[in-house]
Amino acid sequence: MAKKFFIYTFGCRLNQAESNLIRGKLKQQGWQEVGPEEADYIFINSCAVTQKAAKEVAQYVRHCRRHYPQAKIWLLGCYVDSLRVAGQPLDLPADRFLTNEEKRQWIGEIIPPAQGRSLLKIQDGCNQFCSYCLVPYLRGRSQSVPAATVLEQARQLEQHGARWLVLTGVDIIQYYDPEAKLDFVGLVARLLQTTKAFLSFGSISPLIGQPQFLSRFLTLYRRYPQRLAPHLHLSLQSGSDKILQLMRRPYRQAFYWQTIQKLRIIPQLNLTTDIIVGFPGETAADFRASYNFARRAQFGKIHIFRYSPRPGTLAAKMGSQWGLVPENIKKERAQRLARLEQRLRHQFWQQFIGQKLPVFFFSPYQGQTVNFIPVASHRPQPTNQFQLRRLVKIREEKVWLD
Ligand code: SF4
Repeated sequence: MAKKFFIYTFGCRLNQAESNLIRGKLKQQGWQEVGPEEADYIFINSCAVTQKAAKEVAQYVRHCRRHYPQAKIWLLGCYVDSLRVAGQPLDLPADRFLTNEEKRQWIGEIIPPAQGRSLLKIQDGCNQFCSYCLVPYLRGRSQSVPAATVLEQARQLEQHGARWLVLTGVDIIQYYDPEAKLDFVGLVARLLQTTKAFLSFGSISPLIGQPQFLSRFLTLYRRYPQRLAPHLHLSLQSGSDKILQLMRRPYRQAFYWQTIQKLRIIPQLNLTTDIIVGFPGETAADFRASYNFARRAQFGKIHIFRYSPRPGTLAAKMGSQWGLVPENIKKERAQRLARLEQRLRHQFWQQFIGQKLPVFFFSPYQGQTVNFIPVASHRPQPTNQFQLRRLVKIREEKVWLD
């Protein structure tokens, strides 16, 4: 009888991509995907990038143990590595624990199952060591998937129905394949030449503004305007140079600003970002710098994070010396920024009301424009392909077609 599994994914796009690889691997071996109540195995692909995420993972493992006693529980990825880094025992009621490295080895090289929009993992790990971030400790140094593997996976995904590929990694701009002599922009160019798929990117470092990348990157947008998503997510994290320095971010606000001015030549560009509020040392003036920067940059969406220390990071060690921000102030700053975020997002959407844009429906009633505006329809729409549709009104945090 086929073994039955359930997989639950926390966290980032990279984790989602890896869960898809696991799904593909198990299905290839004849396993059947079911709900957790029927599963012989529950795989929990975890996140520990914030305190909140780690707490949710621990709660979910306990929940599964209590409610699905029939299942063997495997906990995978960042949560396991975070305990390893902190030297803490694996004290959750799971049957097996796999670190990110063990997870990678277990997955091996396989083709993920294709969906209309499919994640394509090109890179893992990070060399940057931002002072607040555990990722380099959890996922190790930057490693690139060989270009030949990426191209073959893309070809097979397309053959099995993928129309849209999302290039995914921790920091995809760190991509480099020494054998093929391809950096991130070179790999994108090769994918544009060898596939017909529409391409978008997970988060991209503001270092895309460096001379060795920027003009080549913009040339691709000019040459393939129908093939590259006019959506870029560049993490700002703070609009204050003092805080960026404490964060050990590799750019300053003026560089970020110049970069986005140059990127704005991409028509219909939706520029989105992440901002951390309440980082140690953040004064009212530093927060104002972030707020004003966001307002001037007119981001189409901002992911707002309230800073929480992650044991083992530089910021966790130095926090009290740099000046801890009280929780109530963090909360108040996050709320102020969230109000601005909603206003900017709606302003961005508003400029497209009345216009026709390519929309990709993932399900008959829910989709996304080519520049990442969430779209809904009362009438069923053809799925997994782009259709030119007129955007009519904003309601319930979506743009409606009718
Ligand atoms: S670039 Fe900085 S924030 Fe992003 S994964 Fe690397 S260390 Fe973490």
